[in-house]
Amino acid sequence: MYYKSFLIKYAEIAIKGKNRYLFENALIKQIKIALDDVEGDFYIRKEQGRIYVDAQGGYDYDDAVDALRHVFGIVGICPLVQLADNGFSVLAEDVAGYLDRVYPDKHFTFKVNARRARKDYPMESMEINAALGEKLLEAFPDLSVDVHHPDVTLCVEIRDQINVYSEVIKGPGGMPVGTNGKAMLLLSGGIDSPVAGYMIAKRGVSIDAVYFHAPPYTSERAKQKVIDLAKIISAYTGPICLHIVNFTEIQLAIYDRCPHAELTIIMRRYMMKIAEYFAKESGCLGLITGESIGQVASQTMQSLAATNEVCTIPVYRPLIGFDKQEIVEISEKIRTYETSILPYEDCCTIFVAKHPVTKPSLNVIHKDEMKLSDQIDHMVSEAIETAEKVYV
Ligand code: ATP
Ligand code: MG
Repeated sequence: MYYKSFLIKYAEIAIKGKNRYLFENALIKQIKIALDDVEGDFYIRKEQGRIYVDAQGGYDYDDAVDALRHVFGIVGICPLVQLADNGFSVLAEDVAGYLDRVYPDKHFTFKVNARRARKDYPMESMEINAALGEKLLEAFPDLSVDVHHPDVTLCVEIRDQINVYSEVIKGPGGMPVGTNGKAMLLLSGGIDSPVAGYMIAKRGVSIDAVYFHAPPYTSERAKQKVIDLAKIISAYTGPICLHIVNFTEIQLAIYDRCPHAELTIIMRRYMMKIAEYFAKESGCLGLITGESIGQVASQTMQSLAATNEVCTIPVYRPLIGFDKQEIVEISEKIRTYETSILPYEDCCTIFVAKHPVTKPSLNVIHKDEMKLSDQIDHMVSEAIETAEKVYV
């Protein structure tokens, strides 16, 4: 591989003043985690407010770029050539060699964007731009200069070494995971919740997850699907501890004793309570769901209020104002869509009412939940105690 290094560009985190180094260190940590599974050894270094990834020997370029494109906090990935400073004429030759190698077809416009970060270099930035531009035009007559809208901006940074790059591969943006605490994602097998987890992780939040299943009404395949979804989003979020909760007893009890129109709401309230238990246990500062106003009966304003009432920590609903199509687009982009649409049963769809309430009254819900009071505490404890933890 021609490129031995990448220059990592990060924007949002650069403006965080004194906290900057915390953000950079978190970013470096996430880059390390992301590159762990890529063939090759990588050394990541922070130097003069920049982060470099250096490959130590051979590596898989496409996999490395793909891994870096999953690291929140990165806005640009620049495949980089580093040159020693052997004077300007050698630099000009090397840069011409770079251009020749990276752009076999020379029919394009370019400009040189030099930056003299080391002030003892004998030429000023503008001088380097002009002189280098001229040398390149001499070497490749098909090239032309366009300083306003060039096809290629050739960046030349004069530091202890000289950085040459011209390609910026878009990163996912956001903030490095781990800079904004941790939250517990209610992860179902659907389209929405993986997207919700992705969006909160993008703001720097680490994620753990909880999935409620109802064996034997739901299958092993449905469970495996959720584990697979957790794996896909873990490429962005880093490692996830997924709590798998057996919800069958609770669901059957609600089904037997409560009005069917309220099944989903009451069930959701117990899901939230149990999720909150695991959240507190592992230091999470909030819950995350894939809910969006009005999407289904259990997501009207009244239903969301009823669900929310049982929570004592904040519930983050990043999709609250999104249309389904917008959510689908993100799920396609993050590659969860194909898995989400696999047709395995969800625990909520099995015990679903024909005519669910769309405007639940809290008083009525409280009264109907009393019908569970002799056994529900025990069932909740049991569900918590028997939960399985899967690390992905
Ligand atoms: P999704 O596509 O995320 O399943 P949905 O449109 O199917 O969402 P609901 O089934 O009403 O909507 O679920 C709303 C939210 O409740 C989900 O986004 C998820 O956060 C949580 N949730 C629902 N079912 C489960 C489950 N079995 N395990 C964990 N969380 C769940
Ligand atoms: Mg669902």
